Amino acid sequence: MSPVDDQRQVILQLVNLSDIDRQRADSQLLIDSVPRVLASRSRDSDQATLGLEAARTKLMGFQARLKTLELELASREEGLGKANGNLLTAKSNQEYTLMMGEIARKKEEKSEAEEQVLEQFDVIKQGEKMVADAEARLEAAKLEYQAFEKRARTEMAEHQKEHAALDERREQVRRGIKPDTLRIYDRAYGAHGSGIVAVESKVCQGCFCNILPNDGARLISGRELIICRQCQRILYLPSVLQATPQ
Ligand SMILES: [Zn+2]
Repeated sequence: MSPVDDQRQVILQLVNLSDIDRQRADSQLLIDSVPRVLASRSRDSDQATLGLEAARTKLMGFQARLKTLELELASREEGLGKANGNLLTAKSNQEYTLMMGEIARKKEEKSEAEEQVLEQFDVIKQGEKMVADAEARLEAAKLEYQAFEKRARTEMAEHQKEHAALDERREQVRRGIKPDTLRIYDRAYGAHGSGIVAVESKVCQGCFCNILPNDGARLISGRELIICRQCQRILYLPSVLQATPQ
């Protein structure tokens, strides 16, 4: 092979390596995103858990209120019973009339208390529905999360497999490149996330600086490795990728 073909081969391998490295970085991003996405989804079902706790607390409050109202009703019933008993002790018509008035008042109080107890039963029924709805929401959130997690973990496993395959290809490609060249590539990759870039219209497409005319001429002659003097990336002409070797 001529030195030009040789050099072209180096560039092709480096571009290939660069493609693999980009795909690896992409698949790594996807793999890394899975735990974050899962955590954010899990916060949704945490919200549903909090909603259920709040509904249960409210219901307990409603039930406590019912206890109070029932005690109140019992005490009014007792009061009414006593008033009825006292009626026998009336010593005059006037006293009897007063007592009847008292009994009528107590009856009214008792039926008010009964009303409140009945109303509170309705409130509790609503509270129970609130809890049931919150339970259903939590159950749905859990199922949704489980389905999502299963999908996410399957996808992650695929990305990991892909990543492992890329690792293997990467090693193969690297074995075909000289260590000195790899060092230059790796240094630029470490600094910028890419080790080799095209030159278009005499501009490095990595840092967008103009390349020196001398470097441009050496690049066209295609016999040696040219490095951007600004960003230290390896440079190539896009035409190299299309050219057929002589
Ligand atoms: Zn550059």
